[in-house]
Amino acid sequence: MEEKSFWQRNQSDKAQNQIAREAKKFGLDKKALNIAYNACKDLDAFDPALTDYLEPPEEDLAYAIEKKVLLRLPLNEHDQTISMLRDKVRQVDRVNVVNSFVASLSAGRPDWRSPLSSYAYHLHHPAHDAQEKALGHTGNYECQICGFLRNPNNGHAGVIEYILIRFRGGGIHHPSPGYALADLIWSQEGEKVKPSEADWKILSKIFSVIRALPETAQLKELNESLSGLVKGNKSDRQGILETLGYCGILTARSRPTVCNTWFRPHEDLPSHLYKKEWRYPTCWWTGEEGLGEEAIAFWFPELSLM
Ligand SMILES: [Zn+2]
Ligand SMILES: [Zn+2]
Repeated sequence: MEEKSFWQRNQSDKAQNQIAREAKKFGLDKKALNIAYNACKDLDAFDPALTDYLEPPEEDLAYAIEKKVLLRLPLNEHDQTISMLRDKVRQVDRVNVVNSFVASLSAGRPDWRSPLSSYAYHLHHPAHDAQEKALGHTGNYECQICGFLRNPNNGHAGVIEYILIRFRGGGIHHPSPGYALADLIWSQEGEKVKPSEADWKILSKIFSVIRALPETAQLKELNESLSGLVKGNKSDRQGILETLGYCGILTARSRPTVCNTWFRPHEDLPSHLYKKEWRYPTCWWTGEEGLGEEAIAFWFPELSLM
């Protein structure tokens, strides 16, 4: 089959409608979003998830960057990325990141939820020089300290994928320094979101339904307890709960929390299949652990004023 060229991707009405819908929902320029899709996701392909990356023509790249859908980041440079991430974590206004998360609960905006995880996860990211190891024959290099993945041949691939990942709340990508950096920049440059009184009530209700779970409760009951309370599906509820995990609110007391100390949990994950689908440390939570009340007071002081 002949390779499609850049602008031959996503040409169907169906693809164009989806891109237009998402551009509207996320407040983005449609052509700029189209460029991001053409680069890494052809919705017209048999399996869009398997789309090969195509570097956008320079003028399209410049257009998408001007419209703030894409960023120019040095993701092929470990030391520069880590130092930018550490600076960004210090610059970001924690109140804005928290507000954005709380407002996401009723708005159904996974992209508003994402930055709090990126922020909490990298709050103690240490200054360090790259300690890279080649990953087989993938062309990737992985830093043994922070997990940063670098592929010298990848052009802008990373940054372009990140905007699409962000629409789904970030998923498994918050530990990735490149994703976290892009997420925090978009959050800082985007509109400032203010939660309503109703959003704060939802958050307070989330904590009370979790407090009411029995000691025998597992992740399934934890997820179901948010059903009907927040906008979105099962994986949105999981994303919200995992955010609370990164913030030290849903944890396992015997294990370190990422927002208190730098810690890469990949050696400490459960083997149980269902728990494996959850991110650390939430994957270790049971009803016996309850809630980290000190962490609630730290991240959401507004709740004590309600
Ligand atoms: Zn590193
Ligand atoms: Zn690993």
